[in-house]
Amino acid sequence: MRATTIHAPFDMRVEEVPDPVVQEPTDVVVRVLRACICGSDLWAYRGESARQPGQRIGHEFLGVVEETGSEVRGFTAGDLVVAPFVWSDGTCDHCAEGLQTSCPRGGFWGSVGSDGGQGEAVRVPFGDGTLVKLPADAASDDRLLTALLALSDVMGTGHHAALGAGVRPGSTVAVVGDGAVGLCGVLAAKRLGAERIIALGRHTARTDIARLFGATDVVAERGEAAEAAVRELTRGQGAHGVIEAVGTEQSMRTAVNITRDGGSVGYVGVPHGSGTGLDLSVMFDRNIALRGGVAPVRAYLPELLADVLDGTIDPSPVFDLTVDLDGVPAGYRAMDERTALKVLVKP
Ligand SMILES: [Zn+2]
Repeated sequence: MRATTIHAPFDMRVEEVPDPVVQEPTDVVVRVLRACICGSDLWAYRGESARQPGQRIGHEFLGVVEETGSEVRGFTAGDLVVAPFVWSDGTCDHCAEGLQTSCPRGGFWGSVGSDGGQGEAVRVPFGDGTLVKLPADAASDDRLLTALLALSDVMGTGHHAALGAGVRPGSTVAVVGDGAVGLCGVLAAKRLGAERIIALGRHTARTDIARLFGATDVVAERGEAAEAAVRELTRGQGAHGVIEAVGTEQSMRTAVNITRDGGSVGYVGVPHGSGTGLDLSVMFDRNIALRGGVAPVRAYLPELLADVLDGTIDPSPVFDLTVDLDGVPAGYRAMDERTALKVLVKP
């Protein structure tokens, strides 16, 4: 089969690789119908996260079950399934408590020795613990499939950020980061009942999606000017909850500075310097909580899936460019240059 590999920074290739097969009795092989490129893939693309030459990449996909191991009970060939961005056994204490990202037998797609989502098929370890079944008729609904693909990462991650930010009915929420996760954070905050949602961003195509998802205000300024603008919108107080979906020193500093005293920052941007943006004495004096991390998307999948299926939420607008497998390297370039928000891959 063919799959995307990364050989060096900015060197993405689509190559012939061995077909995935069932290796363990708990494995499931999934033929990929839809995959996508994540903002976090860009850290590897830009050389800011190390990869071995030839390593697979891509951690968001849905598809059709092709083969199941002898111990798999929940799936049979032909089932339509979505995968969260981490596999997990579904049986350990962490999995039972809804923190599948801490499963000791879990792992990330595209790590050394595993398949990545940006390819024709994937060997899924612990299929029963990892995959979630989708209604079969969704396969013929292009828009719905695209919306469901967002459940593999960005929608669940946005939801995790909103929970970390303590969003509840009536909250005022600010969102730092206008990528797909930040935008899904807006949608998640709206879903949880936020009354006012302030999206920080300057790119009109993105802030338009933020408004579509429920943002009531958009702040186009950056840095201290953005902080002043948010304070002005909140009677000088800041937001009850702030979603931090970037991961840099500047974005974390902004997030803390626009949080109201006693509020929370929900952080889901993969940290690349964000720790240095934290001033614990400021957070101490103002009783600001910090909560978040790598999102246990598997735990959130059932409830978010129900809301996508009944039309309560539709995260599909975050995808603004579609490529086939050969177009994946160009898709990375487009996201790196910010001409695309999020790239959908149809292998
Ligand atoms: Zn586990």
